[in-house]
Amino acid sequence: MTRRKRSYRSLASLQRDNAVCRACVEAGYPLESLPVFEGHAGQTAWILGQAPGIVEGEQGRPWRGRAGQTLRRWLDMDEERFYATFYCSSVTRCYPGRHPSGRGDRPPTPRELELCRFWLEWELRLLRPRLIVPVGGLAIKRLLGISRLTGCIGSKLELGDAVAVPLPHPSGASGWLNSFENRKRLEEALALLVAEL
Ligand code: SF4
Repeated sequence: MTRRKRSYRSLASLQRDNAVCRACVEAGYPLESLPVFEGHAGQTAWILGQAPGIVEGEQGRPWRGRAGQTLRRWLDMDEERFYATFYCSSVTRCYPGRHPSGRGDRPPTPRELELCRFWLEWELRLLRPRLIVPVGGLAIKRLLGISRLTGCIGSKLELGDAVAVPLPHPSGASGWLNSFENRKRLEEALALLVAEL
């Protein structure tokens, strides 16, 4: 049963309510996992993905599948350091299931994005991260309002009191990283990120 308070005073209290959120299911969307996120107050770096995949949904932990392994390889971090460093959540937090075409996962609908915005905004307000890493086009658009990866990967942007360093999605599904220039942009982004950490 979905519970949403008018305001939250602690991240732990927000997480308790977020963990049992079924707002999208109540609105008729066929989600296939409970909300997936991980982190605690005091973490100053926030990674925001698009939505959990099937592995993350099954394990109830973000970035457990192949994309997560690639992301840790990019960052040169083992699992322990990765989860200790980053508060991990996503634009929508439940596995949306397979795409009806059978190719990849179903992208969250605009209504699901809107329903999940509540958790994202409160999380940002309570966590107050110093470094924000939106991963993939959807997270970048949601957080920074930028539609093209090429215009922002390799850049450092200000977002309130925080610095944002966007990354492409490590699943490689889009093919964006097939280009040499874009791989150079990724290298620049990772160098910025390491410097910020
Ligand atoms: S995707 Fe977000 S709003 Fe929708 S049920 Fe999951 S946690 Fe709730």
